[in-house]
Amino acid sequence: MGRMTKAQLKGILEFYKAMGIEQVPRVSPLKEPNPGQGHIPTLSKRGPHELPPFSKGGRGGISNVGIIKTSSLNEKKKKLSLLREKIGDCKKCKLAGGRTNLVFGEGNPDAEILFIGEAPGREEDLQGRPFVGDAGRILTELIEWMRFKREQVFIANICKCRPPGNRDPEEDEVRACIPYLKEQIETISPKVILALGRVSAQNLLNTKTPIGKLRGNVYEYGGIPLVPTFHPAYILRSPGERRKMGEDARVALNLLRRKGA
Ligand code: URA
Ligand code: SF4
Repeated sequence: MGRMTKAQLKGILEFYKAMGIEQVPRVSPLKEPNPGQGHIPTLSKRGPHELPPFSKGGRGGISNVGIIKTSSLNEKKKKLSLLREKIGDCKKCKLAGGRTNLVFGEGNPDAEILFIGEAPGREEDLQGRPFVGDAGRILTELIEWMRFKREQVFIANICKCRPPGNRDPEEDEVRACIPYLKEQIETISPKVILALGRVSAQNLLNTKTPIGKLRGNVYEYGGIPLVPTFHPAYILRSPGERRKMGEDARVALNLLRRKGA
């Protein structure tokens, strides 16, 4: 990465502050935090670290709850892989013609938090994975500052194929693709949805309200609380808005906590 501008640095610091992080490391704060190596900044008392961490083997030891969780995880896995099979080489909309790979989405089928973006970009189209380019770096940072790993959450998009030149997906394309996402949401049944950017939030909430007005509020999607926030690509262009994204993430974490996650 090249040198940061003052505005970028200011944005990053505000983002950290919004996350409850009041001391930042001297090393480039955009580097991936590396717990145990001394790079992770101190979190304030109010920070997301108050949430119970997700231990490797799920929450709690061997209990009935654990057993039920395991079987529901397997069921969800199975349902998602059946859905992937059903989507197959989908040609329901004109985006099929331009894609290298369809991007189904990835993560924990039993995730408590679901991130929904817009559509794959160039890198995502090449790799067949969501949010692996520059915007993905911002999203991964956000996820990690929320004290999750990418594998613990689920990441999906409104459309599964890349629109040419990264244009917004068109209405007919969203209409064709969104039923797949709805099935994913029903299957995963997350405790909270973070809608990333205008296209995601507007299509999920069926509204034309600008994202700047939507964010800051909590909505509902099929009984699941939905928190709209900015798109990570927007944060790349306007780093000063990171702080607001951090605030939205904190709202999502508070909702999780309230739901006893
Ligand atoms: N932008 C998105 O909306 N989704 C991706 O997967 C990547 C970039
Ligand atoms: Fe099918 Fe969705 Fe791809 Fe369109 S964007 S071809 S509906 S998977």
